[in-house]
Amino acid sequence: MIESDTSKLPKEELDSLKNYAHGLIKTVREPLLVLDRNQNIVAYNANFEKKFKINESEGGVSVFNFNQKQLHTDEFREILEELQNSEEPISDRTVEVKFSENEKKKFSVNASLLSLPTKTSLTLLSFKRLKSGRLSRQEKVFNKVVDNILSNAPAAICILRGPEHTFEVANENYLKLIAHRNIIGKTVKEALPEVGNQGFIDLLDTVYSTGEPYIGNEIAINLQDENGAFRNSYLNFVYEPTRNKKSKIDGVFVHAIDVTEQVLARKKVEESEDRLKEVIDAVPGIIWITNEKGESIFFNKNWYSYTGQNVEEAKVFGWLETIHPEDYERAKAIFLEAQKERKPYSSTFRLQSANGDYRWVIDKGSPKFHSNGEYEGMIGTVIDVHDEKLKENLVREKEHRMQGIVKEATVATAIYTGLDMNIELANNAMLKLWGKDDSVLRKRLDQALPELDGQPFLELLRNVYRTGETYWGKEDKVDLLINGEMQTGFYNFTYKPLRDKNGEIYGILNMAIDVTESVKSKMLLKESEFHFRQMADLMPGMVSKTDARGSDIYFNKNWLDFTGKASESLKEIGWVEFIHPDEKQTYLDAWENCLGTGCDLEMQLRLKNKEGKYIWHLSRCEAVKEDDGSVKMWIAANTEIDKIKEEEKRKEEFLKMVSHELKTPVTSIKGYVQLLLSLIKKQQEAEVSKLPLQPSLERINHQVSRLTRLISEILDLSRIRENQLELKKEEFNLNELVAETIQDINYTNTQHKIDLESEVQSLVRADRDRIGQVIINLIMNAIKYSPGSLNINVKVVQEARDKVKVIIKDFGIGISTENHKKIFKRFYRVGVKSEETYSGFGIGLYLANEIMERHNGEIKVKSRLGEGSEFSFILDATQITS
Ligand code: ADP
Repeated sequence: MIESDTSKLPKEELDSLKNYAHGLIKTVREPLLVLDRNQNIVAYNANFEKKFKINESEGGVSVFNFNQKQLHTDEFREILEELQNSEEPISDRTVEVKFSENEKKKFSVNASLLSLPTKTSLTLLSFKRLKSGRLSRQEKVFNKVVDNILSNAPAAICILRGPEHTFEVANENYLKLIAHRNIIGKTVKEALPEVGNQGFIDLLDTVYSTGEPYIGNEIAINLQDENGAFRNSYLNFVYEPTRNKKSKIDGVFVHAIDVTEQVLARKKVEESEDRLKEVIDAVPGIIWITNEKGESIFFNKNWYSYTGQNVEEAKVFGWLETIHPEDYERAKAIFLEAQKERKPYSSTFRLQSANGDYRWVIDKGSPKFHSNGEYEGMIGTVIDVHDEKLKENLVREKEHRMQGIVKEATVATAIYTGLDMNIELANNAMLKLWGKDDSVLRKRLDQALPELDGQPFLELLRNVYRTGETYWGKEDKVDLLINGEMQTGFYNFTYKPLRDKNGEIYGILNMAIDVTESVKSKMLLKESEFHFRQMADLMPGMVSKTDARGSDIYFNKNWLDFTGKASESLKEIGWVEFIHPDEKQTYLDAWENCLGTGCDLEMQLRLKNKEGKYIWHLSRCEAVKEDDGSVKMWIAANTEIDKIKEEEKRKEEFLKMVSHELKTPVTSIKGYVQLLLSLIKKQQEAEVSKLPLQPSLERINHQVSRLTRLISEILDLSRIRENQLELKKEEFNLNELVAETIQDINYTNTQHKIDLESEVQSLVRADRDRIGQVIINLIMNAIKYSPGSLNINVKVVQEARDKVKVIIKDFGIGISTENHKKIFKRFYRVGVKSEETYSGFGIGLYLANEIMERHNGEIKVKSRLGEGSEFSFILDATQITS
């Protein structure tokens, strides 16, 4: 039972040491063990032998190999090592001792070094059995609480005991994690063989040995599931060393959270982000992303290749360093401002490219907000606009120059921008036209010129802006408030859309020319032309107007009525076409001559009317000349002379007849005179009384009175023409005058029977001789034009209350209705050829009518061809009795 540590000790010394040890432990009741410095067994007491069931008696063996390596545990080895090192006594350390495969007992161990006078030392170990099964109530409650906590904890929790990391406790979550394998009492290596080569055991060893906790974040672990299949999980975990009462590490507390889902989800996001970045890299422009602090966290590849910066240089605010020094402060301020305001951002500056050149770029960014509304930073692009910018500068320069030119231009010019029509520019001419000063610049047009409200221009402008179609105003009327007064002007103007380099409309160019004067004079001209036309239309003749070259430009209404053509077609046909072929060539020659010389034209010609009948006209054409003598236009007037011509013809006939009529009585007088002369000659030979002197003289008398009447009628005719017919009015009895006249006629006309019937007796106030003349004319006509019927009725009747009417009715040849009016005209006779049958001049009725008119009387005819005629005249009666 006694073990010696070495054979180095002398025999006697060893023996005395053993005796010492035996003597020391024999009387102690607790199990005691004594070891030498080499941890070999020196002695143990009876109780130790009993408690540890020692059935072997080898001495001097290592305590670790003793009694089937019962004490070959880490805890026990640690106690011994610690004691050796510190040489301080150790108390109440738990050591688990294995008695069989299923039986383990826990002992509380106290240990102390016992220094011997022989300069050697012994280790004294006492064992006290820990009654594990019987826990105090308090302990039980405590354990229950711990259990509860553990099992309900969201994390997977376990406690590994000892240097081999034996599972002591594991909560449900932990068991779930490892597919509910039976792990309690097993070491990690035994329980989870698949993690052996994944580095976890090394980590546990390190924690166990160093006492430093380990925190693992999203560590991948490959675990087998119930079916033995391997599954990748990600864990956030803590390995926290646990210590015993003596602060010695006795295990590891494992607290793990399965973050597989988050990690996989995040990995997916990262993957898609990676893919997005790949896409972004492939974009043929520069793209950047900042975080909520405005720091750049991403640039696509293009940034690096464009600027030559590397990732480190560009990140956060490093990219600003590539901006041209002259643009730097401005660009930075704009960027930071936008970042602060979290507003869309746009800025133009020069950026240094990889080869050192500065190029103009547009940098644009938009704020990014998380779905929960939180600001996340900006995402933006950088676009190289260097070439465009240079062009733009050129354009600007040009525009500048153009503006200068426009300003000086005399044509009123203005530029409006935007749909609001802001007055971007208005030159002096335009300001003058508006009657405004330059305070209207940069105002809206409707504010600068409020008087445009109600006029169509603002709408026209907006329309041009929308449609892009230029508007041309021609002589448009514009009312403008000039010097506080509304003034009307007329303008020719354009509204032309202005487009930027992308073709987008940004404004309107307005150019205007004041044509008020010309419009006003045109209006005057129109007015005078209107008057001319009105006059021309009212004129009885056919008036036409041509331009200087003789082209037809105007025909008056009479022309249209005459030809039956509309103005347009008449212009087309031309008036020459209406000239009778006999006169046409002569006219054209004369007209040609006029156009060449500007002299006037006058000729008689026949023009064809709408019925196809040629009517004689006197055509006069006169040139209207300008101040310098050049022909401005021609005015032609065609007056119908058909009636004149007819009258002329009648005149000729009249003269023929006069001579004929005068010849007859004169010849007759001459004959009777000759007869009388020869009779007087014979008087000397015979008796005068037997000679027919009386009837001859009566005939001479009759013919002479005919001649006298004829001559007085011709005299009256010329008096009427000269308006010199005077009336000698007196009151007389009309009935008496009628009776006397009939009586006179009866003297010479014995063939016709003239009846007089007086229904009333009437006094009239009139020229007795002339009324008598009228009665003679009417009765003589009745006689003359009724050769086949010998009755003539004369009646005096009352017409109205104070009017008397004399009716002369015959039953002769009668007059057709169309001639009823014409017979009262001068020299008019029905049927030209009848002059042989019915002698006369055609002045009797004309005179009768004139005389009646001058008495405020009336002369009428009722007649039908072949049925006789009834002529009557009406006079005011001064007295009338029946
Ligand atoms: P004239 O000298 O021709 O009779 P008048 O002036 O007296 O001139 O008459 C004009 C014409 O009127 C005549 O030529 C004749 O044709 C017509 N006329 C006048 N009286 C009658 C009548 N009683 N019956 C038929 N025709 C008449």
